[in-house]
Amino acid sequence: MRAVTWQGTRKMSVDTVPDPEIVQQSDVVVKVSATAICGSDLHLYNHFVTTMQKGDILGHEFMGEVVEVGRDVKRLKKGDRVVVPFPISCGRCYYCKQGIFAACDNSNPNGEISEALYGAQAGAAAYGFSHMYGGYAGGQAEYVRVPYADVGPLKVPDGVSDEQVLFLSDILPTGWQAAKRGEIKPGDTVAVWGCGPVGYFTIQSAYLQGAERVIAIDRFPERLALARDVGKAEVINYEETDDLIELLKQMTGGRGPDVCIDAVGLEAHGHDLVSKTDKVKQTLRLEMDRPTAVRQTIQAAAKGGRVSIIGVYGGVIDKFPLGAFFTKGLKMAAGQCDVQQFMPDLLQRVLNGEIDTTSLISHRLTLEDAPDAYKMFCNKEDGCTKVVMKP
Ligand code: NAD
Ligand code: ZN
Repeated sequence: MRAVTWQGTRKMSVDTVPDPEIVQQSDVVVKVSATAICGSDLHLYNHFVTTMQKGDILGHEFMGEVVEVGRDVKRLKKGDRVVVPFPISCGRCYYCKQGIFAACDNSNPNGEISEALYGAQAGAAAYGFSHMYGGYAGGQAEYVRVPYADVGPLKVPDGVSDEQVLFLSDILPTGWQAAKRGEIKPGDTVAVWGCGPVGYFTIQSAYLQGAERVIAIDRFPERLALARDVGKAEVINYEETDDLIELLKQMTGGRGPDVCIDAVGLEAHGHDLVSKTDKVKQTLRLEMDRPTAVRQTIQAAAKGGRVSIIGVYGGVIDKFPLGAFFTKGLKMAAGQCDVQQFMPDLLQRVLNGEIDTTSLISHRLTLEDAPDAYKMFCNKEDGCTKVVMKP
């Protein structure tokens, strides 16, 4: 089959590789009908996530048709149309039973890498996301092996397009969880850093969860336009203000937003001296993450407010404003999305027309276009807001 493979820093190719097979009898094989490039894939592309190997198949946002079924699979049969959540979760461990699927104890055979790197227990494995995350082949391919098939894949009805439901695999539940972890109360003002795909769904989720106002922050006009026109957010181009924190204060009666959400992650951009220093330190591997947005969410939040970090981070950071965090009595939450927990409810909301999933897509391409598509999405060229590919 054809598949998108990682060949080194900012080097992707499309290769012919062996077809996947059933390995455990609880697996299925899915024939991919649509797959997308995620902002998280860019962390692999730019090689900020370690333990990548040449030839690894990428992709954790995909859907398609079940074409092979292991003997022990009960919930799926050949021909079913499914969206597959990015975390690989056993469904039976202590964490999965509580719905914390991204913390699955069983799916990641390489957990010791996380323990050595972070001194922290590993989370669930994920498709196409480095060997530290299990080394599973991803879904930017014609076929994918899907383990624990009775747990993850969500069956979707005919009559709904791939584009309407594909993002249930990751960025829609991720935006939903970002808002949820902000514990939004009716009347709250929510500020969202980053108007990429995750920010796009965070904005919509914040309103559905009761926010009165959403303020969205980015610098790319096409992304800010989506946030404003589809998301109904008030938008700030942070390049057009000298003091973002002061502006947010002025917009909120001097208090700051009640909930501040980081939908940017470890490749944040920034002009100030500290952000530039972060970039140098990250390049030299002296600091793993560029935490501009993390710092700003803490600085901006109202007293007693909540900070929700959904952008991905991978190490230790400098200049964490602990004093501000403490003085204002903030609450903070972070983590990978427990996608499976939110999929059924969000499918209903998509079918009811409560959530816009398709305006985000700027480029509809094929797998063969992947190397150019990665470059374009990474550099935010050609107004690229989201790439969907068909094999
Ligand atoms: P993306 O790269 O398309 O979007 C990031 C956006 O942040 C860009 O529009 C960029 O201009 C903006 N940005 C950069 N620096 C900024 C700053 N200082 N202030 C405000 N905005 C800034 O990526 P995406 O697909 O939207 O993903 C965003 C993050 O979410 C990534 O780190 C990704 O890995 C992460 N993510 C996390 C999960 C999870 O489960 N926690 C799941 C999916 C994605
Ligand atoms: Zn993703």
